[in-house]
Amino acid sequence: MEYKNKTVLITGASRGIGRAIALAFGKAGASVVVNYRSKKSEALEVVQAIKDAGGNAIAFQADVSDFEAAEQLVKATIEQFGTIDVLVNNSGITRDQLMMRMAEADFDDVISVNLKGAWNMVKHSCRLMLKQKHGRIINISSVVGLIGNPGQANYVASKAAIHGLTKSWAKEFGKKNVTVNAVAPGFIETEMTDSLPQALKDNYLAQIPLNRLGQVEDIADVVLFLASAKASYITGQVISVNGGMV
Ligand code: NAP
Repeated sequence: MEYKNKTVLITGASRGIGRAIALAFGKAGASVVVNYRSKKSEALEVVQAIKDAGGNAIAFQADVSDFEAAEQLVKATIEQFGTIDVLVNNSGITRDQLMMRMAEADFDDVISVNLKGAWNMVKHSCRLMLKQKHGRIINISSVVGLIGNPGQANYVASKAAIHGLTKSWAKEFGKKNVTVNAVAPGFIETEMTDSLPQALKDNYLAQIPLNRLGQVEDIADVVLFLASAKASYITGQVISVNGGMV
């Protein structure tokens, strides 16, 4: 129960990778805040699963791209559990389109959630972490933020920028024992990737030396490691978890 008495706030934890991270922390004894934007019943199901495993969790609705809503999410976490030890910026959306057809709103929406959302969350929680002289910030980026991808200029820009934030925050916060790292998943089976054409999935699979698509637990395991005492000398890094794809 390494995370007993630790409070972990995970954005976008109602589904997919965020859900797996929330369940893993909950089972490891943490008090977990399960943030969601719209899928309340899924978020409550995650909370119940954590409680069934003997853990402690609440669900909290907030659109992380909204500055005030992100502040309310941070405040609610502190009111409920007293502090924030680990912040996982996981919320993300795609609006894939080739550049010729990409609408301005497709760019703005993705940047607002994936990039500004993480910035909002850190803006509202860093003062507390710096004051208490400990904290772990883990940003979920993407392999495409390292290599680019056709049809995802908006998404790739948001994830590459997350790497920049990660490295800058690591340099700003290090003296106060707050580490900041990014986890860059490859192709992980979730609702985000479910809708992709089978031919595209087969193409991705052909590029993965470990010869399988990633599972949400592959990412959760690395996030828990980065939040653990064993990772206390790691900061400013982008950890690739992609089966050898890149
Ligand atoms: P997913 O299954 O589509 O789940 C997305 C989560 O983000 C949901 O919980 C959703 O909440 C939440 N969310 C969306 N917009 C939000 C907002 N404005 N405010 C708060 N929460 C919001 O996605 P996923 O595949 O698990 O991806 C999780 C993260 O990993 C994302 O950052 C994604 O870019 C990254 N990633 C995924 C893959 C992959 O292959 N799946 C690869 C690389 C990186 P609701 O349920 O309430 O809508």
